[in-house]
Amino acid sequence: MDDLLTMTPQGLYCARGGFHVDPWAPVPRAVLTHAHADHAREGSAAYLCAAPGLPIARQRLPRTVIEAWQYGERHTMGEVQLSFHPAGHVLGSAQLRIEAGGEVWVVSGDYKRALDPTCAPFEPLRCDVFLTEATFGLPVFRWDPTAAVLEDLLGWWEANREAGRASLLFCHVLGKSQRLVAELGLRTERRLFAHGAIAGMCDVYRDAGVKLLPVDRVAETAKGKDFAGELVLAPITARGTTWMRRFGDAAVALVSGFMRVRGERRRRSVDRGFALSDHADWPALLQTIRETAARRVLVTHGYAVPLAHHLRDSGLDAEALETPYGRDQEEMVTGEEAR
Ligand SMILES: [Zn+2]
Ligand SMILES: [Zn+2]
Repeated sequence: MDDLLTMTPQGLYCARGGFHVDPWAPVPRAVLTHAHADHAREGSAAYLCAAPGLPIARQRLPRTVIEAWQYGERHTMGEVQLSFHPAGHVLGSAQLRIEAGGEVWVVSGDYKRALDPTCAPFEPLRCDVFLTEATFGLPVFRWDPTAAVLEDLLGWWEANREAGRASLLFCHVLGKSQRLVAELGLRTERRLFAHGAIAGMCDVYRDAGVKLLPVDRVAETAKGKDFAGELVLAPITARGTTWMRRFGDAAVALVSGFMRVRGERRRRSVDRGFALSDHADWPALLQTIRETAARRVLVTHGYAVPLAHHLRDSGLDAEALETPYGRDQEEMVTGEEAR
């Protein structure tokens, strides 16, 4: 039997269903796993996504036709049955389950197994062929419990407060910053400040029913406000811009899974790194792949080649796929987002 998904110049294509998955060039029908820039690109004629992600997709892909289905709803598309299932990555992120002729393929999209108060938890699915991401597909990537990272972060903020400095936290606009706002809201009563791009995405989450404490837009604070002692969430693209000047001699930190690697903090010249990620770490990748019971695994993103290699060594039929997904995933913030 033919493969349910094949690689085309526009991206992964399901001929029997008549759609592309997260295409990187315009196509007639795009099915999206989530709205991060490397997965949701403009220009296709029609889009389909999971319902909780619709407000984000609408913001990211204005002036386009976007249809949405609830998680778990099965629909017939051409000759296949298609459904979305929670991936636990960001609000509305989905795994795609594609079934035809008794065979099941699952595309993970980006995913994590750690609980996140801002989105539905990852749903383990069984399948014959599993397409997994491998953003952190190396044994060095192992996450500490979220609570431990948050405790570190609060300690850092407190030390900066005592030193009379602002704490500037660089994080991804979509997903990571909302998760931080939600997690910090469980642990502190203090107000949080944010760059407009992040505050705007918090509004989208709040409108979608996610509980998030208010964040103050830096641009809307009184002229000459002293940010000493405050915590400010900012996209990495704000770095080196005039927007940064108002914070004076601020302590700067980056929240990213890459902070797990020795030397990365220095290379990215930040004072502190917090290894909190919206992607599965190495043990979670292996656990998830095992749970699918897939006989064949196709791997995308950053460390696709080493993960596929490891899986082959463990006796699985595995292969890395060349895609543009995840190019500097955690830090890539488009100009549009930095507005
Ligand atoms: Zn993503
Ligand atoms: Zn991705």
